Amino acid sequence: MNEALLRQFRTYQETMRNYGYIKSVINWDGMTCAPRSMGSSRIRSGGLSLITGQIYDYQMQPENIKLLEDVAASDLPFTVRRSAERYLEDLELFRVVPKDVYINSITCQSETSKIWEIARANSDYEMLRPHLEKLVGIRIDILRYRGITGHPYDGFLADFEEGSSMESYDRFFAEIKKLVPVLKRAQEAAKDIDDSLLYAKWPVYKQKKVARLLMDFYKFNPDHTVVGETIHAFASPMGPEDSRIATRFNENNITGLLTICHEFGHVAASLQCDPELQGTNVASSKASGISESFSRFYENYIALTPEFWQLIYPELQAIFPENLTGVSVEEFYLMLHKLKPAVTRNGAGELGYPIQCMYRYEVEKEVMAGRVSFKDAPKFWNDKCEEYTGIRPKNDQEGILNDIHWVGKRGFGTFPAYALGSANGAQYLHCMNQEFNVRQAIADDRLDKVHDWLYEHINRYGDLYSPQELMVKCTGEETNAKYYVDYLTEKYDNLYK
Ligand SMILES: [Zn+2]
Repeated sequence: MNEALLRQFRTYQETMRNYGYIKSVINWDGMTCAPRSMGSSRIRSGGLSLITGQIYDYQMQPENIKLLEDVAASDLPFTVRRSAERYLEDLELFRVVPKDVYINSITCQSETSKIWEIARANSDYEMLRPHLEKLVGIRIDILRYRGITGHPYDGFLADFEEGSSMESYDRFFAEIKKLVPVLKRAQEAAKDIDDSLLYAKWPVYKQKKVARLLMDFYKFNPDHTVVGETIHAFASPMGPEDSRIATRFNENNITGLLTICHEFGHVAASLQCDPELQGTNVASSKASGISESFSRFYENYIALTPEFWQLIYPELQAIFPENLTGVSVEEFYLMLHKLKPAVTRNGAGELGYPIQCMYRYEVEKEVMAGRVSFKDAPKFWNDKCEEYTGIRPKNDQEGILNDIHWVGKRGFGTFPAYALGSANGAQYLHCMNQEFNVRQAIADDRLDKVHDWLYEHINRYGDLYSPQELMVKCTGEETNAKYYVDYLTEKYDNLYK
């Protein structure tokens, strides 16, 4: 083994970790507690662009690229070689795409997202359309520079989820489609549930107490974890002893607490990573379908069980006596599961969620194939939404301008990976239940059993393998949507009886 090469590479990893930390802290600061003033934003932008430039220069130094290539081709341990390969994958964009094309894509994305905000406020998709077409065109050009010659939508999908394609998602969504009649039955069965209490007044200072309660329940060390406030919830795992999540506390909606459970799932993997991988670029999987599988596991398969609410409800009642006195835990649980015809992913509930992802996938696929033009996309979107969920968006704002993702940093291909994450989580649940009763573990306040299982079966592999290799290691087979469909069908066909 080449010890000198390994030492050099460890220094590279440490430098990159330190750079990454500085960038994450600046981002965290801006997203949570920094003042909103333009002056504050300017200072932050200055710091961010300085550090981003330094990272770029460091990564692109010919001797550092050579170091990565030498390590990748060496006889050093697999974990080390894999880390070098992952760094090289990240550099691909800078190495093969001409600088002006890359900068043009960043500028175009930033401008298009601003136009999206105005178009959405005015419910005017036509205002956005030419800019969106241009952005997608630039992104296709970038795929070509990277040598990805097949169907561009396959390229976009694989960027979110290594190894995925229209073929794999067509198979996946053919299973998910079986949930459409289940959703219709459940909406009908749930229609008399009055859930207005969920949207009563829930003082924010009290919700913060519940956030602390959830941290204890999920067995997060309060010295290692912090919950901040932001507009759009996100997780920022800095390391095994520094996990940060940020959420929006909405005084008129208590269901936001589920978002905290979701974000805890996103940071959980970094808390349990293999000591050898800690602080490296392969500490946890970057694939959306894997990252989202943990967050959905904590949100759906733990926090949406009766056992979870039975456990925390007495404390919830003590915190909110004005709302919950005289309301039984069973009534509250049903309110959380009230299904309404929805046009948004988050308003669609646990069962409606994958169906929302499914028609977004169909829209992206048909548009990318040229079978539906960008101009006709809003009608196609609304038709599909109505067909699957029973409600037709009233306008562009409720329909095609619903989500920011297309004009976001990554673009087409996000939604299918979201649904995939929920399905992967259901597959873990199925396997976990073969070894111990998960709901009983929740009732016994033994979440450590769930953490340990996830560590042993998947988290310890970090980002060393592709998502489907991880699924096989963890569950014995690739993603199989059957477990997810079975879980949802069983749950919702019996929930309201
Ligand atoms: Zn998430």
